[in-house]
Amino acid sequence: MKTIGLLGGMSWESTQTYYTLLNEGIKKSLGGFHSCKIILYSVDFHEIEELQREGKWEEAGQILTKNAKSLELAGADFILICTNTMHKIVHRIQKEIHIPIIHIAQATGKELKRSKSHKAILLGTRFTMEGDFIKSVIESFGIKIITPDKEDITKIDTIIFEELVHGIITQKSKETYINIVNKLKKADNAIDSVILGCTEIGLLLHKKDIPLQIFDTTVLHVKEALHVALCEDNI
Ligand code: GLU
Repeated sequence: MKTIGLLGGMSWESTQTYYTLLNEGIKKSLGGFHSCKIILYSVDFHEIEELQREGKWEEAGQILTKNAKSLELAGADFILICTNTMHKIVHRIQKEIHIPIIHIAQATGKELKRSKSHKAILLGTRFTMEGDFIKSVIESFGIKIITPDKEDITKIDTIIFEELVHGIITQKSKETYINIVNKLKKADNAIDSVILGCTEIGLLLHKKDIPLQIFDTTVLHVKEALHVALCEDNI
């Protein structure tokens, strides 16, 4: 089994999910007393969130690169950055280390293609929905991405930063997300799925809430990591 380096804490609410799912996955595959070999670098999200808000991506990149180097030095075989948003600077981090980073959108795109999805709604932070760094990777798998309008992007983003990253889950916010999804589906019947493109949205929305296929980036990132960790091949 390879050792997985987690660059987490963005937020720690979703890093807990990574930790749980990775261990459950290894137990399911190997049984007995097996658990996942993990090295976790959990950042202070206060610093990262402030830099995101101020658009200081280079400075945020410097912090995460330093942390990724620590994971490499500590013996990680590969890294997961446990947030969609910070994939905005994944290339900057990758070029400074010698172990691979498994891209969250690569893992997601692969699964959408496997499931024969053609058109998907992308939900995430405003950086993720307005930027191209997640969208373009998923679209490279032949999937068309739809994002909400400006007003709904603000609603979704506010719920992430004011509630989900603080572990606050409310019925009202769940309904806000469901209404936005239903509105987009009503306007375009070719939409067949929803991507939970923020690692905390899976804490709020579940399969039964939405009459479309759901692709949770946290779950798919973990799935890909387990595959690589258990594969005999070198990476
Ligand atoms: N975990 C979130 C994501 O997947 C948002 C937190 C952040 O801004 O990094 O994008």
